[in-house]
Amino acid sequence: MNEKIFDASYEYARSLDEQDELSTFRSEFYLKEGTIYLDGNSLGLLSKRAEKALLEMLDSWKEYGIDGWTEGKYPWFTLSEHLGKLVAPLIHASADEVIVTGSTTTNLHQMVSTFYEPVGKKTKILADELTFPSDIYSLQSQLLLRGFNPDTHLIRVKSRDGRLLEEEDIIAAMSDEVALIVLPSVLYRSGQVLDMKRLTEEAHKRDIIIGFDLCHSIGAIPHYFNEWDVDFAVWCHYKYLNSGPGGVGGLYVNKRHFGKKPGLAGWFGSKKEKQFDMEHLFTQAANAGAYQIGTPHVLSIAPLIGSIGMFEEAGIEKIRNKSLHMTSYMMNLISFKLKDYGFSLGNPVEERRRGGHIYLEHTEAARICKALKMNGVIPDFRAPNGIRLAPVALYNSFEDVWKSIDILKEIMVKEQYKQFENKRGVIA
Ligand SMILES: *Cc1c(COP(=O)(O)O)cnc(C)c1O
Repeated sequence: MNEKIFDASYEYARSLDEQDELSTFRSEFYLKEGTIYLDGNSLGLLSKRAEKALLEMLDSWKEYGIDGWTEGKYPWFTLSEHLGKLVAPLIHASADEVIVTGSTTTNLHQMVSTFYEPVGKKTKILADELTFPSDIYSLQSQLLLRGFNPDTHLIRVKSRDGRLLEEEDIIAAMSDEVALIVLPSVLYRSGQVLDMKRLTEEAHKRDIIIGFDLCHSIGAIPHYFNEWDVDFAVWCHYKYLNSGPGGVGGLYVNKRHFGKKPGLAGWFGSKKEKQFDMEHLFTQAANAGAYQIGTPHVLSIAPLIGSIGMFEEAGIEKIRNKSLHMTSYMMNLISFKLKDYGFSLGNPVEERRRGGHIYLEHTEAARICKALKMNGVIPDFRAPNGIRLAPVALYNSFEDVWKSIDILKEIMVKEQYKQFENKRGVIA
């Protein structure tokens, strides 16, 4: 940052909001008076459209009973496919390569049980040591189910600094013993974006299947799956896509793999026309729908119908541009105002490697987060020493960013955090 040029005034933040072409979406969300919500990377906020969609879904149950499967505005029988088609543009995939189903963890189990095919000495799974724990638990249990020892068969690429991963290190670990690679698109702590295109190319050169967990990228950054040739992906919709707590997740299967037998089969993976023939012979759908298992959680899908419309209107490229602008503005304010208070920036600074949130590190992070909450700023804490701050394109303003850093400075100047214990809560 050039301090001579950077304008840290409140008026400047306001002027950025005035120029912001996505600012109209903010009024569609339920924002609480007196709070600045910067936790959209953990749980996105409720919008009026999502609320309306959920209420309409309740109405269709009230109105149609069992016939809701085929009647009403959004017949439940094809709802997962319908939403798959609406989510697909966010990752530049074809409509039939995406299905809205399950959760990140259950979808990962489904994908690994489908795509992990140990043969000869090619028996290992490659992941990384910074990955979200649920993904690791899932990989460990999948290895155990196939009779392999996770201690020897799950390779976790090391981080050089505890924050970031180097693509070179991941590629170097793609040995001829690796059958499958599962990586995050964006690391949940540092917010680093991995180069999915390059990693996929390198994996495929070595005849290794590769899949990504998009939890921290979908709805925040565009993905070009039509060009990258990724084999599969899984994600949730309750973070940047604002589909509500426990909202149904999604998965992508490259059309090259259509017809591959699901590791975990269930009747909702059937070809639609065959499902109610009730035969004991499974006839799988010819697309990503084949990897569904049981009856869709209709009420937990509903909010996404409303929410996704805003992404369609705003466009994911514009969302990414605003998000990058906000995080760079936030980093500038941090280095301008918080230089002397012991913070360090744990996220990558380069645009190409920076996800949707800022990761601030501080030895007192747990109690600084508590002080932020007391002052109406909602961050989240990630052990051991990280504060995640996510200015979200559709509902946060530049004014929010300005005020939250101003409040953080006040907390540090007055040492307000000292009134709290430096320990995380149950939900951090
Ligand atoms: C949020 C998140 C999950 C959560 O998985 P659920 O099955 O929805 O509980 C998994 N992986 C990553 C990387 C996440 O960020």
